[in-house]
Amino acid sequence: METLAGVTRMRLVGGNLALDFINTRAGPPVGPPDDDVLTGYPELVAWGAYAGALSEPEAEALRRLSLDDPGGAHAAFTRSLRIRDDLDEVFRTVAAGQSPSTSVLARLRDDEADALGHARLDRGSTFRWTWQDDQTLARPLRPVVHAAVQLLTTGALDRIKGCGGCRFLFNDESKNRSRRWCSMDDCGTSEKIRRYVAARRTRATG
Ligand SMILES: [Zn+2]
Repeated sequence: METLAGVTRMRLVGGNLALDFINTRAGPPVGPPDDDVLTGYPELVAWGAYAGALSEPEAEALRRLSLDDPGGAHAAFTRSLRIRDDLDEVFRTVAAGQSPSTSVLARLRDDEADALGHARLDRGSTFRWTWQDDQTLARPLRPVVHAAVQLLTTGALDRIKGCGGCRFLFNDESKNRSRRWCSMDDCGTSEKIRRYVAARRTRATG
């Protein structure tokens, strides 16, 4: 399997495919992002496989398709960045306890309608949407858009939160809804260190 190492730089901590898609950009909690793993169509496909949105054979088929149609691949990539901006706006607004604009929600509706227009209903323990028949270059975006709509329509909105230490968003699935960090190993630990250093400084000067 071809691996684009950069894509795995972002840990999958969102608890939802759409939130993990937003988390392909990293940086401080406010202000512009300072890192982005989505740098082209091959990275979009690699991220889809990494995040579980695509099987490896599907990713391979998309790689071949993109080589045959570079213009179409570029258009799908440009669209993926627009969708990521839209999802970022929607979920960051919801995390702040506010309502997204009607225009961004209308675009999300159109993207969901397009995603379902390429989907198939498959029977498992329940029926679910799959995109196994979809052989278009926008294939990686379909489950991302659908996961976003699922979370907005069936999730608990007060569980959608922003990390206290970085710009990552996550769905807080903890029992008492007390999760504050994208990951304890990363932002949680740096916060603990910061508090420890501050407390020691207070003791030293006090
Ligand atoms: Zn964080």
